[in-house]
Amino acid sequence: MFKKIDHLGIAVEDLAAAVELFRDTLGLEYAGEETVADQKVRTAFFPLGESSVELLEATDPDSPIAKYIEKKGPGIHHIALRVDDVAKAIEVLLGKGVRMIDTVPRVGAHGAKIAFIHPKSTPGILVEICQRGDE
Ligand code: ZN
Repeated sequence: MFKKIDHLGIAVEDLAAAVELFRDTLGLEYAGEETVADQKVRTAFFPLGESSVELLEATDPDSPIAKYIEKKGPGIHHIALRVDDVAKAIEVLLGKGVRMIDTVPRVGAHGAKIAFIHPKSTPGILVEICQRGDE
């Protein structure tokens, strides 16, 4: 069901500074920024081999990213696993008793269909499942 690690989501306090680090200092390819209003985040993507790095900055104090940073500080926020069909994957996971934050797919950055698995069902890791229409 899972194809690969689609991306690693990293919570940052200052997106511009983090972009500078990943693009200019580390020299990663930079694919631009996008605001996901629904999740109150601004994202920046860095394709890296088969996967990418996604930086996430809160656009609002009650953004999930703002709350995460408040509790745990900046750092790795989630791991996204690629699937072909996120609706089907949700059904399969629910059928196996996995707790889902999203039982219906929602739209993430770049128009991807995404859903989050509840960290209570994983060893404290927030896992995003992600379907892209572009491949
Ligand atoms: Zn993500």
